Amino acid sequence: METGRKPPPWQWGLLIAIMAACFMVYLDTAFRQFELLAPPNTREDLLAVGTLSEDHKDFVEGIGKELKVTKKIEVIMIPTMFFTIARGGRLVQTETSWLVLIERDFFLRLNIEEQKALIGHELGHIIFIFPRCVFYMSCQKGADRFAALHTSPDATIGFLNKIFNPTRDEKRKKEHESRVQYIERLKQGKSLPSR
Ligand SMILES: [Zn+2]
Repeated sequence: METGRKPPPWQWGLLIAIMAACFMVYLDTAFRQFELLAPPNTREDLLAVGTLSEDHKDFVEGIGKELKVTKKIEVIMIPTMFFTIARGGRLVQTETSWLVLIERDFFLRLNIEEQKALIGHELGHIIFIFPRCVFYMSCQKGADRFAALHTSPDATIGFLNKIFNPTRDEKRKKEHESRVQYIERLKQGKSLPSR
């Protein structure tokens, strides 16, 4: 007896099998890539891929004293290929130190004051981290404000402009706009030194 519905031709089966195989290869590659490119997290691993930096040593030490940090602060320059999670900079805490990870190629595109603002932003996250700030944007803006206070609003806006450009991602465009506006407002409110 005919049931009315024909089984799909064998070509369909073959096509689905090929697509499934491609998908498996894709997944495998995606996971491997993630594993290979995920930034190392221990100090030892970070120093295996990056180099300790003496750039702006006095600036870094000054902030360390001001924040009364008990751990050592170290700045490590990381090659761009290992920077898959954040662009520009990242702060990592280990048992013995605060590690300021800086994307080396990006750092070299900044002028001296912008370099300090970037490092200042990352050091700002020693304070501006949960629970002092709860949302991503409030943590970022707090760290931006910290950077502006320790360098200048213009240097902070300068590094932000470079970190977010070029971007085609609408969400990142909004973040860029909002963070620059925040520093502009602080500057106009004269709550920041205008040097
Ligand atoms: Zn940040």
